[in-house]
Formats: sequence, structure tokens, C-alpha cells
Amino acid sequence: MSKTAESVWNNCLAFIEDNITSQAYKTWFEPIKAVKLTDNALSIQVPSKFFYEWLEEHYVKILKVALTKELGNNAKLVYIIRMENTYGNKQPFTEKIPSANRSNLQSQEVDVPLKNKSPELKNPFVIPGIRNVKIESQLNPNYNFESFLEGESNRLARSAGLAVANKPGGTSFNPLLIFGGVGLGKTHLGHAIGVDIKDKYPEKTVLYISAEKFTQQYIESVKKNNRNDFIHFYQIIDVLIVDDIQLLSGKAGTQDVFFHIFNHLHQNGKQVILTSDKAPVDMIDIEQRLLSRFKWGLSAELNHPDYDTRVAIIKNKLYRDGVEMPEDIIEFLANNIKTNIRELEGAIISLIAHSSFNKKEITIDLARKIVDNYVKHTKREVSIDYIQKVVSDYFQMDVDTLQSKTRKRHIVQARQLAMFFAKKFTKASLASIGSQIGQRDHATVLHACKTVDNLSTTDKQFRKYVEDLSKKLTL
Ligand code: ADP
Ligand code: MG
Repeated sequence: MSKTAESVWNNCLAFIEDNITSQAYKTWFEPIKAVKLTDNALSIQVPSKFFYEWLEEHYVKILKVALTKELGNNAKLVYIIRMENTYGNKQPFTEKIPSANRSNLQSQEVDVPLKNKSPELKNPFVIPGIRNVKIESQLNPNYNFESFLEGESNRLARSAGLAVANKPGGTSFNPLLIFGGVGLGKTHLGHAIGVDIKDKYPEKTVLYISAEKFTQQYIESVKKNNRNDFIHFYQIIDVLIVDDIQLLSGKAGTQDVFFHIFNHLHQNGKQVILTSDKAPVDMIDIEQRLLSRFKWGLSAELNHPDYDTRVAIIKNKLYRDGVEMPEDIIEFLANNIKTNIRELEGAIISLIAHSSFNKKEITIDLARKIVDNYVKHTKREVSIDYIQKVVSDYFQMDVDTLQSKTRKRHIVQARQLAMFFAKKFTKASLASIGSQIGQRDHATVLHACKTVDNLSTTDKQFRKYVEDLSKKLTL
């Protein structure tokens, strides 16, 4: 029987499926279609450039092995990316990209003329060497609503997300601001909304971007003198998802540019979705006019998951990974890791890994060991240097300023906070703390600790500093 694209690919899939987790297989390989086989070149179609990059980055070895088994040493792999249609072009179109050289699969030159070149649109996502004029959503298909379990802690945010996904730009939840602590699902939910919108409204241009990357792109655009192109690029998005906007804090230029983009999108009925690790009222060094806009729509909080939700999340993860685990161990995990879903997942993964590498049963003892390691690991000892660094960063000064002899109030406060946390989080003596924080004596440190205690009971803003810094230092 002669080989077809499908038969070759199916054999590759069988091999790959045996060698990676079922979750990864489902996410990254099931959506691929084999489209063409010519000689020893197999063309596969992937849903986005993000997808293609992910495969190249994470699965290129296994793809090579699988393909070489099927097609011999000269095997070639050609990716065909079904790009998202944007910018006035209603026809979806495809662009072929040969497997990159780093894959060691021999690459093949395929020259496909790009339709509808829009020269005035500069896309900051362009990766050198890859032709790219269309906007990819940068969404992770794995982060969808189905895998985002509902519980008391996320009900409002999740429902708001669903409402927005059903009618992007058409609800009063614009912007939708999702806020909450580390590892509680902000990024996941942000993606889920985008993924759902792409599903329901394939013609809409959806873009996920972290505030960090947005900032980098902005800085780059200023350097290259094309700030307007940058703004223009973002103004044509239908659904803009910006993750971790608290990172814009203190960055006046980026805030300004974001303000213009935001206004344009909002005025044109486009949907904006933001995530942040704090509520708008608690955001620091974000311009007032921007803050007030954040509050225009809905701010929905993600809280710590309750016990039942934690159990559900564990079970769901085990189910997706095809792993079984005794009930008492699931309960043990749910009882011991409460405030961070990422940690919960991390513990499950290491538990599974330990038991399968060492061919050990998953027992309570093993679970306890792992949770201990986990918790110890996250509770690493902080050093006085580290504390000074965190405190100065927080107040946007350098460590030298914090240690200086000045009596300026905000610097004195920062120094006192550093001393207070050094006392709280290290075993160092008052004298030793004093000598490490700007050559002060033990009485000064003692005074600092008392002052911080007093101020944090009487001064709301100050208490906020203490809480924020505690969080940062115990992360
Ligand atoms: P954040 O952005 O708030 O720090 P993430 O979105 O990265 O958190 O979530 C951390 C991990 O927890 C991710 O792997 C995510 O899939 C998972 N997770 C968070 N919330 C849920 C949920 N409700 N159901 C299932 N998994 C969740
Ligand atoms: Mg996140």
C-alpha cells in the first residue's frame, strides 16, 4: 500500500502519543491536520503561528524521530499555518513556513505570495526570518473555559468572562478587569475568554499580550521611531487582552500610549480585558485618568479556591493526565495547598513524577514529603540584601538611597520598613540588621520596628505598604 499524508501522519501520531502526556498530545497534536505528502516532505496544518512555534520549541525532537522512522533520513516537515484573518481581508488564508533550521529537519523553501499586504501596518510580533503580516492571537488553546473549573471563588469573574465572550464589546463589562493573587487563574481566564471569542467570532481580531511584552514593544517602537505604527497596530484589534497591567506601574510613557489605545478601542465598541494582581484602588503609580478607565467596566476578583474547588481542580488535572490517585491523597493535597492553584498543580505533577520514576506507589508519606518540599521551597529564607532590594524596588529608589543618611520622610520610611522585615523574616540580631542597612545601631532598628508597628495600625496607606511587601517577600 502506498503512503499517504494521512497514513504517514497517523503513524507519527501513534508514536508521539506513546511518548508524551495525553494532555500535551490532545492540546498540541490532535488539532493538527496532515495535508500533503510529496516525496519525503510531509505538510501539516497548524492553527496558528503560536502553535507552530510551540511545536518547534517543545516537540521538534520527537517530530523528527517520528518522521524519520516514516520517511527516512531525508524527511522534511512543512508547516502550513492557517492564519487568522484580519484587517479587511475576509478570506482566511494560509501561509507556509518550512520547519525552521533549528529543527534539523531539512527545511524546504516555499514561497507563497501573501495576499492583501498592508504596508502601513507594522506588526510588532514579527519574528525575524518569518514573514508575518497578519495578527496572531497569541492564545493558548489549553487555557479554555472547559478547563477553568467553576467554584465560589471565581464564579463572578468566570460568568463575566463568559458574558464578554458571548458579546465582546456589547456588554457593560468593558473593560473587564480580572484581579487576584498569584496563581489564581487570571492568565488562564484571560486566555479562555479570547479562545471562546475566536471560536464564536472567527472573524474578530483577538490579541493576548502581557503588559510586560507590551511595554517592551512600546520601548522598541520609540527607539525605532515608529510609535505611531505601534499605536495603529493596537487600534485595529477587536478584542485586546492585556495581562498583568500592574506592571505598567511607574511607566509613564507606556501608560500614555495605552491610554490612547484604550480610548480608541473603547470608543469603537471594541472589548478590552485586563488582568492585575490588585484591585484598581490598590494600584500604585498608575495615572489617575487610566485608573478611572479601568473602573468603567467591571472589576471581578479571583479569590482563593475553597476546599471543594481545590478537590475538583486536582481531580480534573488527574483525569486529563490519565492518572489515578487515592482519595485520601487528593484530600491531603487539597488540605495542605490552599492559596495558589499553580502550586497545587506543581505538587500533583511532582507527585506523579516521583511515583512513576521511582516506580513507587503514591502514598500519603510520599505526598507529605512532596508537600513539605514544596512548602519549604516556597518559604526560602530571605536575606537582608534581598529585603533591601525588594523594598527599594517597591518604592522605586535604589538601595544606596535607602541606606543614605537623608531624613526625607519617604526614604526614612522605606529604610524602617526594610529593618522591620529584616527583623521579621531573618534570624539576624538588631545590631547586625543595623550594620547591614546603612550602618545604623541596634536602637535605631528597634525604633524602626516600633514605628512600623504603630504606623501600620494607624495609617491605612502604610499598612498597605506592609501588606504588599510581606506578600512580595514571602512569594
Ligand atoms: P495567575 O495568572 O493568576 O497567576 P494562572 O492563570 O497562571 O494564574 O493559573 C495558574 C495555574 O492554575 C494554571 O495552570 C491554571 O490552568 C490553573 N488554574 C487556575 N484557576 C483554575 C481553575 N479555576 N480551574 C482549573 N485550573 C485553574
Ligand atoms: Mg498570570
